[in-house]
Amino acid sequence: MGKLLINQNKLNDKVIKELIDICPFKALEESDGKLEINAGCKMCKLCVKKGPKGVVEYVEEQVKSIDKSKWRGIAVYVDHVCGNIHPVTLELIGKARELASKINHPIYAIFIGNNIKESAKELLHYGVDQVFVYDNEELKDFRIEPYTKAFEDFINKVKPCSVLVGATTIGRSLAPRVAARFRTGLTADCTVLDMKENTDLVQIRPAFGGNIMAQIITPNRRPQFCTVRYKIMNAPERTEEVKGKITLCEVNKEDLKSNIEVLDVTEKEKEVSISEADVIIVAGRGIKTEKDMAMINELADLLGAQVAGTRPLIEMGWVDAKRQIGLSGRTVKPKLIITCGLSGSVQFVAGMNNSDHIFAINKDPNASIFNVAHYGIVGDLYEVIPKLINNIKNNIALV
Ligand SMILES: Cc1cc2nc3c(=O)[nH]c(=O)nc-3n(C[C@H](O)[C@H](O)[C@H](O)COP(=O)(O)OP(=O)(O)OC[C@H]3O[C@@H](n4cnc5c(N)ncnc54)[C@H](O)[C@@H]3O)c2cc1C
Ligand code: SF4
Repeated sequence: MGKLLINQNKLNDKVIKELIDICPFKALEESDGKLEINAGCKMCKLCVKKGPKGVVEYVEEQVKSIDKSKWRGIAVYVDHVCGNIHPVTLELIGKARELASKINHPIYAIFIGNNIKESAKELLHYGVDQVFVYDNEELKDFRIEPYTKAFEDFINKVKPCSVLVGATTIGRSLAPRVAARFRTGLTADCTVLDMKENTDLVQIRPAFGGNIMAQIITPNRRPQFCTVRYKIMNAPERTEEVKGKITLCEVNKEDLKSNIEVLDVTEKEKEVSISEADVIIVAGRGIKTEKDMAMINELADLLGAQVAGTRPLIEMGWVDAKRQIGLSGRTVKPKLIITCGLSGSVQFVAGMNNSDHIFAINKDPNASIFNVAHYGIVGDLYEVIPKLINNIKNNIALV
């Protein structure tokens, strides 16, 4: 990384105007005869290349190297509400085991809350070597400041090389704050994780609207942070065997002070989420009118399935926004997913390609959904779905 240096002594009104005109992002501003760079700078370096020679310079910053051997272990943040552990935690432990085996590091879990010691023991059935428990009354409800403090304490004491956090509402607010405390990198919503021999975590996620898969590493900082959505990784099987240990940790009570006072906690009515569904029927733009959704709903009812949609159907208001699958929607991993009249855009597929059985209906044999489908019918959904419904009702096999 580098930075821009403005040699203010080489400026005059003409040069300032020239440079301001060169910058396509309006990132150069004049203030009291000086030139300043604002947050709009995209580092395109046009001011360096096209501006008067030597006025704006690009200077490479010296990167301090770190001793990576001092950072050991893959840590998983235990996402929970009142001690009820979110299943994404187990999925991340599964991934942490795989990554740790490549570099021969231990697997840690950091569990912050109140009255959580019993729940912490459960994690030892999933292959965690050490669970660090911060059990304190001040940590009863999630509040960002004390949770950050406990997390910070854990990192300072344990020095894990990588930290995996579930991309839940809590994880998405906590992880960046803790990462910022250590001035280290965080990659959000990773879909693939790998580990290099030198302990650099390869964080892979869709970028530029899902058109490329970016591989991101944090070579000069530790720890390395990433968040991963629920249902992306596989949870390991629970074993009866327990190998690891629980370590109780203390933080100074003063440090756990918060400006947030939790007055009451009301449990939300349980919604049936498509993320939990075993069978999903997805409607795509091949559905011509809203009333044709009745056909999709009937098929879903017969199969005990949840209905979901692609983004255009959500935008048309035919399917609830919580039922959008894909990059900007939910990630699902059902036993069976039937896609009806959708093309299989990269943004959609990113949210469902780990499903156990993918069954696609599309009239275009070249539709990209067939590249990921395990079974497919090339045909008009207005003919295929009614037949399917009829066959299910009459208990007739599909083939
Ligand atoms: C940053 C970004 C994020 C995005 N996030 C998401 C996301 O989370 N989820 C999402 O879904 N999209 C997302 N999109 C939009 C995405 O790019 C596609 O536009 C969208 O997925 C297309 O939806 P579709 O497959 O239903 O429609 P289309 O691409 O129009 O496909 C319709 C398909 O239906 C078939 N068809 C038409 N009529 C029939 C028929 N009678 N019988 C059978 N088949 C028929 C056609 O052959 C065609 O393949 C995102 C885009 C961007 C840029
Ligand atoms: S690097 Fe590009 S964006 Fe930044 S100030 Fe120069 S011209 Fe503007």
